[in-house]
Amino acid sequence: MDMSESHQPQTSPIPPRHIFANLPAYVAGKPAPQVAGLTQYKLSSNENPLGPVPKVAEILSTFDAVHRYPDPLSTKLREALAKRFNLDAENIVTGAGSLGALNQILKAFAGVDADGVQDEVIYAWRSFEAYPILVGLLGAKSVQIPNLPNGAHDLQGMLDAITDRTRVILVCTPNNPTGPAVTEKQIREFLAQVPPHIVVVLDEAYFEFCTVSPVPDGEDAPLDGLRLYREYPNVIVLRTFSKAQGLAGLRVGYSVSHPQLTQYLRVSATTFAVTAVAEAAAVASIEHEDQVMERVQHLVDERERVAARLHELGYNIPQTYANFVWLPLGEHTAEFTELARANALAVRAFDSEGVRVSIGEDEANDRFISICEQFPHRV
Ligand SMILES: *Cc1c(COP(=O)(O)O)cnc(C)c1O
Repeated sequence: MDMSESHQPQTSPIPPRHIFANLPAYVAGKPAPQVAGLTQYKLSSNENPLGPVPKVAEILSTFDAVHRYPDPLSTKLREALAKRFNLDAENIVTGAGSLGALNQILKAFAGVDADGVQDEVIYAWRSFEAYPILVGLLGAKSVQIPNLPNGAHDLQGMLDAITDRTRVILVCTPNNPTGPAVTEKQIREFLAQVPPHIVVVLDEAYFEFCTVSPVPDGEDAPLDGLRLYREYPNVIVLRTFSKAQGLAGLRVGYSVSHPQLTQYLRVSATTFAVTAVAEAAAVASIEHEDQVMERVQHLVDERERVAARLHELGYNIPQTYANFVWLPLGEHTAEFTELARANALAVRAFDSEGVRVSIGEDEANDRFISICEQFPHRV
């Protein structure tokens, strides 16, 4: 039977929930364009160009249990993390990337309250693009606090924005896309002023890069959230295997917090989100941490080389503790992005604010520097 005769396709619009009207779209990093004679490089997604530890290739080629569901509790991974960081495995909840873990948190603590009023989620802006989408999808209200001129969080501004509707505060350290990190002293002063019923998330997606980054004279080192979450029952630390460990494509991350919070995260988690192969790759990354840190050290050395040259050239770029640099080019953003594309480099442009460029292969970094040399504007 010809289906088209029996059934007229539905043409009236099918509206999604009303909250879709105000959602920004997630703009994923685009591949670099093809340019004759030049290798293309993608410097737009903060990926690790050096890839995972070699053991991961072996796991992928020998894995023989795709017909089985994974362990929904990622027990082996949580035990490996607990041992490595001297934590209680009960304090760890895994997810499909730290985005998966963050989604668990927001689903558990932010949405529309029983009285129909929106919960509020405070975070710095500009920060990670996924925040407004996740918050908005749950029906909660984003309260965005502009960064300070040096790209750092305005922590006082974030405190001032707290209301009786505030449920969650997201602190992105180092901040994507600007680069600065929050220190332990700053976060302790901050937490001392946050009411204890408000959940504070420390998104440490780039943590490993901080640990080998030089700290400028007179400044304090970036925060290590795991050092303090035990003292603060409202704090959740978010970590991922996507960046330093080079497992972005396998989707595995986790949160660490007090059992009074993890009990809800386990309920809001998508069951079986972390696959067995992702779990095994993550465990291998923990077992071969020395190899992970060699890669991280190389990327940080490259970042320092790039940043030093940009400073020489007169670019006023903020301090970065991650695997990217931020060029606050303002109205020249599109022009820079075009120049990069003409040189087979994909970079991440944010409208008329600036460009985030990931540290990539050595040759990609050389080419990025040469583009900065040619570019006529300095900010
Ligand atoms: C990349 C990134 C993440 C992690 O993404 P996953 O791949 O989902 O782990 C989380 N937060 C920030 C700020 C990031 O830049």
